[in-house]
Parts: sequence; C-alpha cells; structure tokens
Amino acid sequence: MWRVVKHPYDRGDDTKNGPLLFEKNGRQVEFSRKNRLIINLIGTTGSGKSTQGAMLARTYGIPHVSIGDLFRDALQSSSALGSLIKHQSKLGAVYSVNELCLGMVANRLIKPDCTNGFVLDGFPRTQIQGVVLTHTFLHPDDIHVPIFMDVADSIVLNRLVNRWYCKPCNRQIRQHDKVQIEDGCPTCKSPLVKREDDRSTDKIRENLCIFTQHRASIIESMQERDIVHILHLDDKISPDHIFQWICEIIDCTLDVQHSKKHTSSGEIPRTWAVKLSGQRRARST
Ligand SMILES: [Zn+2]
Repeated sequence: MWRVVKHPYDRGDDTKNGPLLFEKNGRQVEFSRKNRLIINLIGTTGSGKSTQGAMLARTYGIPHVSIGDLFRDALQSSSALGSLIKHQSKLGAVYSVNELCLGMVANRLIKPDCTNGFVLDGFPRTQIQGVVLTHTFLHPDDIHVPIFMDVADSIVLNRLVNRWYCKPCNRQIRQHDKVQIEDGCPTCKSPLVKREDDRSTDKIRENLCIFTQHRASIIESMQERDIVHILHLDDKISPDHIFQWICEIIDCTLDVQHSKKHTSSGEIPRTWAVKLSGQRRARST
C-alpha cells in the first residue's frame, strides 16, 4: 500500500507549503496544491461515510470535510448563516439547497489544511453540486476518487432509528453496540442525544426519498470526469473490510498517478485502466 512519508502539517511552519508525499516500493507520488488527492465519499446519511471518512483522513494525512458537520457547526453558531440554515431545515431538504451547500463547501476548501487534498463526505447531493465540484472546485490535475457507498434504504432506516450521538466526543453510537442509551456515552458518560434528522421515521424516509431522486444524476455528474466506484454494502460487511476495500481503490489510483508521471506519453497504462473500470461488488468473507 502507498504510505504517507511526508506531510507538511506534521512539521514546522517552514514546510507548510511543501507537498504531501506517498511512497511504495521506492516509488513516490507527490500531491501539492496543483494536484491534490481528493477522496469523495458519496451516499445517504447512515451509509457509513463518516466512519470511513475519519479512518481515511487519518491514513492519508488529509482533513475530513464532512458537510453534515459544517451544517451542524453553523447551526450552533449565532451567525446569520446559522439562522438561515435553521429556517431552511424547517422547510426540509437542507442538503439539497445548492446555494447553501456550495457556499459552505467553498469556504471550507479554501482553508490551508486542504492545500494537498481532503476527504469529502456528503457532497455532492444534487447534480448541480456535482457539476460545480467537477468544473469549479477541482483542478484539472487533481486526483479525484469518487466512491459511492450504496446501502439499501431499509438498512439505513434501521441504522438511523438506532443511532445516537455524543456531542462532547463528536461520536455516533448505535443502540445495538451493547450500549445502554440511558447510561450515556461509554467514553465520557455525557447524555446521548438524537440528531434532528434522526428523530422521526417519517423525516428519515423523507431524506432517503430526496437522496434517491438525485442518486442517478449525482453519479452522472461525477462520471463526466472520473470513474465512480460503487460499493454495494450491507450490515454483513464490517467497517474495517469496507476501509480495506476503499484503500485498494485509492491504491490503484495512486499507481495510475505514478505511472502517468513516468510514461513518456502520459497515457494511463491499459492494465490499470481495465482494473479500475466498472463497478465492484462486495466480496463475501
Ligand atoms: Zn462522549
């Protein structure tokens, strides 16, 4: 697997503008502000994006940009944006309001920690957001790896009904994780709360329905630029297994990036193109 060997944010200020460097078997791939590594987790709430996003951010040394977290942070602030989101939430479908989402994502991505790349979690949610991402937010040289985490609605519904949240730990807790909800967070003992979106089954169903309406057009908007890797997931596949799987996809992409830089034509070698094409299905282990 490709490993991070140099990360500009691990060092002092003088190296902050340096590249993010990966190495495998003596071969190196560099990411800098001109060609960033962007891992994009697409999927509905409850598909497991935030768990994978946190693991990937740690592994690849890039920040985890969660749109859900951006919205929740803004909601908690006393800013005009916070009131606007509060108002919009009452009308429903806050993530599919393009102006709101695009502004928040753009503001986050210009922060210096995103210089060499980032893990995007929960964006795009509409075709327009997908088009703006591929045409405006991404540079032509960026390595963008879109991964669609596809989980059946019935499974997501069950997960969200049983999902609780610890605010101080910023952590999700599932009821069937042998946790007694009334005992509070297993780590800090704070009371566990429900997220606004998870409070009622009707609200969850409504959000799933909106996501389904946009599903095909989101994939289409991404496919114009990159191969979208669709992972068909269920509760039998562990988060660790899914993580390994995503790492393999990124590994192949980094192999391609390395080969591109070291072949005279700059063409993607045929073998890798074949390996990367098409949808992958979950392996049973
Ligand atoms: Zn806690």
